[in-house]
Amino acid sequence: MYDYLIVGAGLYGAVCARELTDAGKSVLVIDKRPHIAGNVYTEKIEGINVHKYGAHIFHTNNKEVWDYVQRFATFNRFTNSPVANYKGELYSLPFNMYTFNKMWGVVTPEEAAAKIEEQKKEAGITEPKNLEEQAISLVGTDIYEKLIKGYTQKQWGRECKDLPAFIIKRLPVRLTFDNNYFNALYQGIPIGGYTKMVENMLSGVEVRTSVDFFGHKDDLMAEAQKVIYTGPIDAYFNYSLGNLEYRSVRFENEILDKPNFQGNAAVNYTDTETPWTRIIEHKWFEFGKDEEGNDLPKTVISREYSSEWKKGDEPYYPVNDEKNGKLYEAYKELTEKETYVIFGGRLGEYKYYDMDQVIAIALNRIKKIK
Ligand code: UDP
Repeated sequence: MYDYLIVGAGLYGAVCARELTDAGKSVLVIDKRPHIAGNVYTEKIEGINVHKYGAHIFHTNNKEVWDYVQRFATFNRFTNSPVANYKGELYSLPFNMYTFNKMWGVVTPEEAAAKIEEQKKEAGITEPKNLEEQAISLVGTDIYEKLIKGYTQKQWGRECKDLPAFIIKRLPVRLTFDNNYFNALYQGIPIGGYTKMVENMLSGVEVRTSVDFFGHKDDLMAEAQKVIYTGPIDAYFNYSLGNLEYRSVRFENEILDKPNFQGNAAVNYTDTETPWTRIIEHKWFEFGKDEEGNDLPKTVISREYSSEWKKGDEPYYPVNDEKNGKLYEAYKELTEKETYVIFGGRLGEYKYYDMDQVIAIALNRIKKIK
């Protein structure tokens, strides 16, 4: 009999497992995939740590979380600066003076601010009610049309008018020449890959991979006093109230026999015609070098195709709009009857959490348990 069964060996599960083990509890972690680390899983290909379920750049303002992850990995100095490719025109991201200069030829911050204000006024937006209005009121119509509209519609499979404004507020808008995609005090990639970091978190913890919780639910639950479930909340209840919507991503990975494909870790394709949303060139998360500092002769790229989730796909992004919000609340009510189960993480709580938020909520949860 274990004190805790943890379903899912991603970040939420791994942090809970570490904290509970250190508090003297017996823990069993299971994951349906043949490996640990959930969607932050990295795999070494041609000497490059490939982010197999999409690019993950660790960034946080939370000192406690930053100190916490340092226990399990050394982070490199990677700073995320994606490039937007609109029909062959390249723009700097996030939206900053380089972007405004390329878009409008403006040179000073005042000129850029005036241009945004002018376009916002023309659009007649006072209180933005959706992603489109929010975007235009932040950066004007030109940038919305070229750098946001197409990308967002591909990413979410919905019109910008039908999406919540908060999604675009994730991106900074700056009247400075700062290409750092995040407004975070701390940022980097774990040297040696995320898998190694999660492996360190799980050291000394019993982990069984390739175990499907739902295939053995009764047996597994009989093995533990309490359960921490990090899978999709609607799946736990067998979709009894209906499906929550998720976006899924398909990755087309390619090994190229050249040292440099696009010169940057991430290039976003912001037009509607290009079928992929972005191309990740993984070696640039580690400056194109192996751990000994040697240049790598080959490169690995991943094209990301976004799609509506259907049963059997991997869920990546919860669609946090009103309709799904209501359905989630209904599922949340059901969890109150499951007193021996804790639901947590991006899928367990149906929230668009970043990695640092997942770690913070896991740590808080365990503090409460303690
Ligand atoms: N976005 C955009 N153009 C871009 C990059 C992002 O319009 O080139 C919008 C898009 O709606 C996206 C949101 O900004 O969903 C948040 O982007 P972020 O990079 O934070 O998403 P992530 O890839 O981290 O999930």
